[in-house]
Amino acid sequence: MEKFHYKDNRKIFHENRKGDVLYLTFPLIEETNVVRHGFSTRIGGVSQGIYASMNLSFQRGDDEHDVRENFKRIAAAIGVKEEEITFSKQTHTANVREVSLEDKGKGLTKQMDYDNVDGLVTNVPGICLATFYADCVPLFFVDPKKRAIGLSHSGWRGTVEKIGKRTVEKMSQLYGSRTEDIYAAVGPSICQDCYEVTGDVIEGFQKNFREEYWKELFYKKENGRYQLNLWKANEFVLREAGILEEHLAVTNLCTCCNPELLFSHRASYGKRGNLGAFLQLK
Ligand SMILES: [Zn+2]
Repeated sequence: MEKFHYKDNRKIFHENRKGDVLYLTFPLIEETNVVRHGFSTRIGGVSQGIYASMNLSFQRGDDEHDVRENFKRIAAAIGVKEEEITFSKQTHTANVREVSLEDKGKGLTKQMDYDNVDGLVTNVPGICLATFYADCVPLFFVDPKKRAIGLSHSGWRGTVEKIGKRTVEKMSQLYGSRTEDIYAAVGPSICQDCYEVTGDVIEGFQKNFREEYWKELFYKKENGRYQLNLWKANEFVLREAGILEEHLAVTNLCTCCNPELLFSHRASYGKRGNLGAFLQLK
């Protein structure tokens, strides 16, 4: 069995096995005791070829029956019901949508009637928020005091627009969450060593992030391109939003460094399925 290659020795994740399904959880989020959550891997599904085996995308050319079986398996592993899973509709925006009881199941068991939604928040127990990844950054939010949650997809565009901060603000507006009560986790995604970008991407970061941070966010190479640190960028965004250091877990697991176990857009040159992040209030 292939093993995960972590970037350091911090214990950010638990590796969980339920039957054939391998998925990840954050002890920090688990310890709030108010949610079920998980981040899928490629292991334990039925899809074939470039989708092998736990592909959670209906939109990338995989067989629909296989994808439905994969959702059934990951839902059972995490301990949620399929009809509770409610999808984002990701288009690299910084839009955060409140998910109400009538939205429950949209995307998987019910028709979706919204678009351009990269972040989801709710305070309804039993709704399982779901967002999807293959190098972009998953952000998990839990307020155990007000019993509210959020889950956001933060690629480079979402990170420039600070969707993490927008998610926290939405939880504050809608549910009265205090930032010092919110636990947040930055999930498996592409590391700085694997993430080469062009100057136009960097311009967005120079515009929206303080200059004193730039040294930690990116560096320029001889070929004129840059290596960008989305993990650090999201950490800055969440700290700026008011998340306490002791309530924040930042990934040390890179999708692109673990292409056998995690889907990576960069490692596969776009031939890949999707991973899923799941978060449900008990
Ligand atoms: Zn990497």
